[in-house]
Amino acid sequence: MSVRVRFAPSPTGFLHIGSLRTALYNYLFAKHHGGVCVLRIEDTDRTRLVEGAMEEQIESLRWAGVVFDEGPHVGGNYGPYVQSERFDLYRTYGMQLVASGHAYYAFDTSEELDAMRVRQQAAGIAPRYDRTTMRNQYTLGEHETERLLQSNADHVIRLKVPHTSEVRFHDAVRGEVTVQGREVDDQILLKSDGFPTYHLANVVDDHLMEITHVIRAEEWLPSTPKHILLYEAFGWTPPTFAHVPLLLNPDRTKMSKRHGDVMVRDFRKKGYFPDALVNFVSLCGWNPGTDREVYSMPDLIEHFTLERVNKAGAVFDYKKLDWMNGEYLRAKDPQDLAAMVLPALQEAGYAYIEPDYVARVIGLVRERIHFVQDVVTFADYIFTDVVNVDDEYRAKHWKPDTSELLRALTERYASIEQWDHTTLNDVTAAFATEHNVKTGALMHPLRVVLTGKQVGAGVYDTMEVLGKERCMTRLRNGLA
Ligand code: GLU
Repeated sequence: MSVRVRFAPSPTGFLHIGSLRTALYNYLFAKHHGGVCVLRIEDTDRTRLVEGAMEEQIESLRWAGVVFDEGPHVGGNYGPYVQSERFDLYRTYGMQLVASGHAYYAFDTSEELDAMRVRQQAAGIAPRYDRTTMRNQYTLGEHETERLLQSNADHVIRLKVPHTSEVRFHDAVRGEVTVQGREVDDQILLKSDGFPTYHLANVVDDHLMEITHVIRAEEWLPSTPKHILLYEAFGWTPPTFAHVPLLLNPDRTKMSKRHGDVMVRDFRKKGYFPDALVNFVSLCGWNPGTDREVYSMPDLIEHFTLERVNKAGAVFDYKKLDWMNGEYLRAKDPQDLAAMVLPALQEAGYAYIEPDYVARVIGLVRERIHFVQDVVTFADYIFTDVVNVDDEYRAKHWKPDTSELLRALTERYASIEQWDHTTLNDVTAAFATEHNVKTGALMHPLRVVLTGKQVGAGVYDTMEVLGKERCMTRLRNGLA
């Protein structure tokens, strides 16, 4: 059997970080098995559509490197299957269930349904459509049903859930799941406007698209018994289900919009690399079984299995994500990174932003930053001759004889021909011995004059990147 999976987002908002993980698990699983992963936009709920959401979700997936294998052609790529373009199909299948006795007409108004819920609440029972007392095909009889349909009375189509049977399925993540048939509601399949509900369209499409594994968020677990019953009603074989655990905030609450930036585009805007984010979210809820943490997409494809997806919710560790981003930053070519940060440097109005130079600066500071954009502020002194001196830092390290010493050292530096780390180190060490001071007593003052601040890369490395001329100018001006 060849694997076919789908990622099926609803365009009700931008792509959530948890949805990215669901998409990834589908993609990784498909690729691991040499199978197919399709994108299907589930836009049956017309009231919750957000304009531009579908395009944004597709763009975020593309950015993350999730590629789909089939679908209608859109501009040379595979576009998604879109449910709103397939509405007639769902209606046909819904009516097929009415004809076979697995679904029925119901004519209740929303007031009648409200009253039913109030009655049920008062009786202390869970709210559920009561087929035996409400206005439907069974209570009204064939004749009255026919008359109402003829007169175009508002109606829906509901699934006739067999109240006796048990619904059982094996979930690839959660194991055996059993639900009593009487706990399942007579789900609406076709709404009064004729549109399908999520449940009907989802099952019909999974069947028609020959989906073998449904990998989706845990929040859909309660819907699965309804889906199993629908497969049974149609006489179709259900796919294998795998419900993946929730993503949690560090305080173990559900990661949602209310808790800050949880959309993929927020992470993108903050400067996370797509490969770092993909690596990180893949490990939230999936345990490769080793201590290794850095996985490229091909590595993830090679190692991903559903058996190693955890049942328990996965805490989203922001600190670890930042660390991982730093790991990716250090592994990337400084030239490529320079190209990424150039626009920001230009915008900041800096003078020295020649790409090769920026690449060397990145090489200089990359051990100390998590994001490539950090160089804009972290190494600001390197892109301009304006050095903003941290007064507190200067006061701490500027002793009465410091100016004198630095002046002499500056003149010594003037004679250096080979301006590099080693020479600077040797010359400074010799100077310190001659003047009977520790090199440490020179380092901080040098830093004060050259960069203005305490944190940064090593002084000689910084001086090498800055170059002799700029260093001499800074030292002379600073001391003056
Ligand atoms: N449209 C559903 C969602 O937005 C998909 C659920 C499923 O994968 O079956 O998450």
